[in-house]
Amino acid sequence: MSDIILEGKDLKKYYPIKTGVLRRTTGHVKAVDGVSFELRKGETLGIVGESGCGKSTLGRLLMRLEEPTDGHVFFGGEDMAKASTSQMRKLRRDIQIVFQDPYTSLNPRMTVGDIVGEPFEIHSDVIPKGGRRKRVQELLDLVGLNPEHINRYPHQFSGGQRQRIGIARGIALNPKVLICDEPVSALDVSVQAQVVNLLEKLQNELGLAYVFIAHDLSVVRHISDRVGVMYLGKLVELGEEDQVYEHPTHPYTQALLSAVPVPDPTLRGKRDQIVLVGDVPSPANPPSGCRFHTRCWRAQDVCKAEEPILQDRPDGVTQHRSACHFAEPRTVVERSE
Ligand code: SF4
Repeated sequence: MSDIILEGKDLKKYYPIKTGVLRRTTGHVKAVDGVSFELRKGETLGIVGESGCGKSTLGRLLMRLEEPTDGHVFFGGEDMAKASTSQMRKLRRDIQIVFQDPYTSLNPRMTVGDIVGEPFEIHSDVIPKGGRRKRVQELLDLVGLNPEHINRYPHQFSGGQRQRIGIARGIALNPKVLICDEPVSALDVSVQAQVVNLLEKLQNELGLAYVFIAHDLSVVRHISDRVGVMYLGKLVELGEEDQVYEHPTHPYTQALLSAVPVPDPTLRGKRDQIVLVGDVPSPANPPSGCRFHTRCWRAQDVCKAEEPILQDRPDGVTQHRSACHFAEPRTVVERSE
């Protein structure tokens, strides 16, 4: 039996650009443009990239908060586009999301009990009405909050505690997959670690699989089993966390990693910093061929003409794929023994 719980196949999301009095469609913003990946049961797949690369749109497509322009999402092998209304209700229980901003994602007029218990109102068959308050208190306890604070309002909690409330709501229906969309970006660094540790604890206890979307490479490395790197709506590198971080093969990943601060001063001098020139091109008018060619120091003529596909490393290492005509592993940081 397959251990793949969630699969995206050639997912695309194009937003029309409408101009003029008649609001004619004159182009498309290609936010996600042909992304394929697999998520295995109980694993964490990190999706990393700069702002505007399409990673949050990808998360919403997986939740079916937005319909893809093209492509498919499979959950447990079932095509979500073909699910009946009752199957879709079940699927919505199995995939939940934690949003980025704990300040705006919680309704300030609802108590914590109502917020965490809201999924039980929507899926009223999960827990009988009489047992919901007890279950909400169990969930608050599970995420490290005081169950006695069930009648408090979001403004009475800190940022980290609010994100715990969002996580409690996310796991209320015992999902199999949690989409975490920049769950710690709005938090202080000291609090980020606590929330990441909580997510790891819940994964171990509940067997959850995570799609962890973030722009912070260090946070993604800490929590992820595998990592996908996105650039201008496409996955440009995908592989096991240690391979992607220690032997990145795509020039974009190499540049991103070279910019991550190194705490160990003895390693700083050993690292080549790659400074990317130019801005990220518009997703409404992406470059031809390889989308990274306008900023890539290794670009050659073929890069402008032919789009590279995501494929295994040239040195035979499997499960580490890169979309580059000239992919080769590069050790970004020399490790001291
Ligand atoms: Fe750079 Fe060419 Fe590779 Fe694109 S295909 S990343 S432009 S070397």
